[in-house]
Amino acid sequence: GMHLHPLNYALGLADAAERQGVEIYENSRVLNYSKGSISQISTDHGKVRAKIVVLACNAYLEKLEKRIAGKIMPINNFMLATEPLEESEARYINRDNVCAHDNMFHVHYFRMSEDNRLLFGGGENYTTKFPEDLKSYVRKTMLDVFPNLKQTKIDYAWGGTIAVTVNRMPHLGRLDSNVYFAQGFSGHGIAMASLAGTILAEAIDGSTGRLDVFNKVKIPTFPGGTFLRWPGFYLGMIYYSIKDRL
Ligand SMILES: Cc1cc2nc3c(=O)[nH]c(=O)nc-3n(C[C@H](O)[C@H](O)[C@H](O)COP(=O)(O)OP(=O)(O)OC[C@H]3O[C@@H](n4cnc5c(N)ncnc54)[C@H](O)[C@@H]3O)c2cc1C
Repeated sequence: GMHLHPLNYALGLADAAERQGVEIYENSRVLNYSKGSISQISTDHGKVRAKIVVLACNAYLEKLEKRIAGKIMPINNFMLATEPLEESEARYINRDNVCAHDNMFHVHYFRMSEDNRLLFGGGENYTTKFPEDLKSYVRKTMLDVFPNLKQTKIDYAWGGTIAVTVNRMPHLGRLDSNVYFAQGFSGHGIAMASLAGTILAEAIDGSTGRLDVFNKVKIPTFPGGTFLRWPGFYLGMIYYSIKDRL
């Protein structure tokens, strides 16, 4: 996923959907939905009725659907972009201009932008807030991997909230005859969420073969359910952070 520009990808998908006649409503948070052959969906700006419901809220699902909320844990992941680097410096840290990630539990991933900035991802937290000084927060992790960039200015830093599952497998399936869901892409959703969308569309269209395969994948519930999953998860993450450093 890191290979592409995710916003342009999202805009491209929206454009393609609209060309097929889909109407997209932004800024309409779904607060609840009713079960039944026609679902009544309440948003903070009005109501809609739908024959089919797809829950694709990922890390932001919260209490909208209790039956799947305990399968995911929201975590924040962060990135930065350095100032543009000299060509020689860029080739020194990334000779073949590749997009790469390491195999740490708390993964580091990076590539160069077209204007030779290092785009570096790494560093996460598990609270409802992002660190105040995000640039410094991610820079610290970047310097673990690229200590020679100590003098390099950080121009941008940003982050988002992703949903992880216990075994890092995506969680998709059907809850009722007309309610589907896809979530828990565990940091790999660019390709996987797109595949999940295709598989759900196939199932809604009557071909459930590929969805049945995913239904067989067991996704454990986080110990403690939606309320008490945090302490165990937090301790687990600290344990793996220490292991990464050994
Ligand atoms: C810093 C960072 C780097 C990443 N790097 C990579 C990478 O290199 N490769 C990769 O594959 N993945 C990467 N990811 C993960 C990837 O972004 C996610 O896996 C992917 O976005 C999941 O897609 P999704 O559609 O399931 O969820 P999201 O993209 O989170 O979309 C969920 C949507 O649902 C909407 N929503 C939520 N709740 C409601 C509600 N109640 N009512 C209405 N709408 C609602 C939200 O507004 C949002 O638009 C990265 C994530 C971050 C934060």
